[in-house]
Amino acid sequence: MKGTVLGIEGTAWNLSAAIVNEKDVIAEATDIYSPATGGIHPREAAQHHAKYASMVIRKVLEGAKEKGVSPSDIDAIAFSRGPGLGACLRTVATAARTLAITYDVPLVGVNHCLAHIEVGRWKTPARDPVTLYVSGANSQVLAYRMGRYRVFGETLDIGLGNAFDKFARSAGLTHPGGPKIEQLAKKSTNYIPLPYVVKGMDLSFSGLSTAATEALKSNSLEDVCYSLQETAFAMIVEVTERALAHTGKSEVLLAGGVGANMRLREMLDIMCNDRRVSFHVPEKRFMGDNGAMIAYLGLLMYEAGDVLSIENSHVNPNFRPDDVDVTWLE
Ligand code: AMP
Ligand code: MG
Repeated sequence: MKGTVLGIEGTAWNLSAAIVNEKDVIAEATDIYSPATGGIHPREAAQHHAKYASMVIRKVLEGAKEKGVSPSDIDAIAFSRGPGLGACLRTVATAARTLAITYDVPLVGVNHCLAHIEVGRWKTPARDPVTLYVSGANSQVLAYRMGRYRVFGETLDIGLGNAFDKFARSAGLTHPGGPKIEQLAKKSTNYIPLPYVVKGMDLSFSGLSTAATEALKSNSLEDVCYSLQETAFAMIVEVTERALAHTGKSEVLLAGGVGANMRLREMLDIMCNDRRVSFHVPEKRFMGDNGAMIAYLGLLMYEAGDVLSIENSHVNPNFRPDDVDVTWLE
């Protein structure tokens, strides 16, 4: 059962729809919610998604039509079921249900974290990696084992991207803060000690973000940005390395918006070289949140017969990747 799937992402700031088949992304359309001030406001983000959903879907259908793919070629509608902001998830799920009813095709509920991993496996040579998934809301180290993607380590409080964004706001930088911190960090090599919090295999970033804000009182912004990055990245690289040692796997895959950071890539690359494992980074468009990853995992699940009835298509803001029975792998 080879198919063509339309998928919609909308867990937080990025509203994005894509149509994919086994070979490639046929079309993609995106509209981004970017707050004028402060961070992501859940209700405003959901209102953004509600306002632009029909436009984004129309655009992706038009894009597919130009490639010779019409709505009647679509075999299933996939949507990000969670984790994410409840109001955003419900908005996108409503759009997905409407499309599934309109085209009379099945609905597929996709775990957002697993979609990051599967699009990475699709678009890089990685086959069975340890994945470091670092985004705004999520920070996890995952690997496949006996029917599930297991979480080997994760943040106990906020995601690394949120920790960066929160610190950046306290320093007067606009959202998203991560890219601005990266640029400022390049101007310093002066390390200021900050709390390095690895508990077993788990991580904590909330205190680190607060400590960085405190450090601004007596240090330059460049020095604090540099020290914040060095500390946080050393923490996640340590946990990734221990997951490699534990699982015996020989590949690392980087996923999530924070993965755009060149210093993080450099540190992971050094660790991977030392351990003689390969390191895989997808193209930037497949790293942060995107519609193609939802459509692609939706396609794998559809082909495995892993579909939902409308009645059972509720969203789950706390949807854990290790709650999913992996139906689409051998
Ligand atoms: P995502 O939730 O996966 O879409 O990723 C969004 C998060 O990635 C935000 O918290 C951004 O601040 C962060 N981010 C994006 N680019 C960078 C970068 N170059 N360095 C660090 N963090 C980044
Ligand atoms: Mg994400």
